[in-house]
Amino acid sequence: MDSLKELYKIGNGPSSSHTMGPQRAADRYKSENPDAKSYRVTLYGSLAATGKGHLTDYIIEKTLAPKDVEIVWRADIIKDYHPNGMMFEAIDENGEAKNPWTVYSVGGGTIAEEGQRGNAVKETYPHKTFAEIIEYCKKENINLYQYVIRYEEIDILDYLETIKDAMENSVLEGLSTEEIIPGKLQLHRRAINFLNNYKDTNDFSMDIYACALAAAEQNASGYVIVTAPTCGSAGVLPGIFCALKDHFKITDQQIIEGLCVAGMIGNVIKTNASISGAEVGCQGEVGAACSMAAGAVAHILGGTLDQIEYAAEIGLEHHLGMTCDPVYGYVQIPCIERNAMAAKRAYDAAKYSMATDGQHTITFDQVVETMRETGVDMMEKYRETAKGGLAKWFSH
Ligand code: SF4
Repeated sequence: MDSLKELYKIGNGPSSSHTMGPQRAADRYKSENPDAKSYRVTLYGSLAATGKGHLTDYIIEKTLAPKDVEIVWRADIIKDYHPNGMMFEAIDENGEAKNPWTVYSVGGGTIAEEGQRGNAVKETYPHKTFAEIIEYCKKENINLYQYVIRYEEIDILDYLETIKDAMENSVLEGLSTEEIIPGKLQLHRRAINFLNNYKDTNDFSMDIYACALAAAEQNASGYVIVTAPTCGSAGVLPGIFCALKDHFKITDQQIIEGLCVAGMIGNVIKTNASISGAEVGCQGEVGAACSMAAGAVAHILGGTLDQIEYAAEIGLEHHLGMTCDPVYGYVQIPCIERNAMAAKRAYDAAKYSMATDGQHTITFDQVVETMRETGVDMMEKYRETAKGGLAKWFSH
């Protein structure tokens, strides 16, 4: 499995697969084809269906500037390999298209050519399933934080410190911003209202909602967030970490350890299923984030490896089947609210698991596989096309 650096990335929202991935692809194509007179970029499937709401065209044009860019929208063509396909072409002086390059934005800002996915950039971890990881940890008598330190490069703690700070900033900035979220829904931000509610009541749930909403609203507005594991689910982990810090005074070290635990859970989901809403629906984005956060909270609360696995299993299991149905294609409704609910549910999953001895019937790996199969069976309109689910009530 990949390094956690490939999972947690700092960048601008609102969509890791629709903005960060295409931006990386455009950047690479531009550097490999600097002499083009202009560029043509064909977007397929989900990238074309919801690319406008997710600013895909904007980010590609901006990255390939100052050269002209023609964007071709082909929502009707869904590539077998992954629904987020795109083809770059360099147009020469005579108007001829050269060097076609087809690449896929496979979730969390990662890009892959056909056949590349599932092959880690560099195999940082030797284990592929959570069962293997836990077995190893038990044998070595180490926890998941120590497991990460054992396999990652020496600078991982510095990297995670930067991630922690970026998460906190996304919450703090979100809590001090009142502007309307860009887009035709003209949504008012809500994080500040929930913060005021928390201040009045000292109700922990209100604090979780406020912090998760703050980061999710920052993402929806295109500001800097951390993929955890994606942009659309960027409010869940910061939400619960910041609320735990406010309310229970957990330390920075506990948050770093929580990031390691959550990272391994996310890594297993990314490796064995998917974190792409276009591929498996929102169960792979907000569901995955809830699972990661649940495991992290269980670790912070002093959970055993079995209790952590159980918390992660609960977090994902109760999001099985959740569709990706963003209204008008914006990462706003239901996404923002969904982050707040998932952050609270992560806490509940951890508390639930901590009230047991950690023994459970369905394993985390089985839920991950079930999530993948459910995603495969999910009709296309429920996978980030803005055609089905809640999105159907609003026409383009
Ligand atoms: S519904 Fe979920 S998967 Fe779809 S765009 Fe929103 S957060 Fe992402």
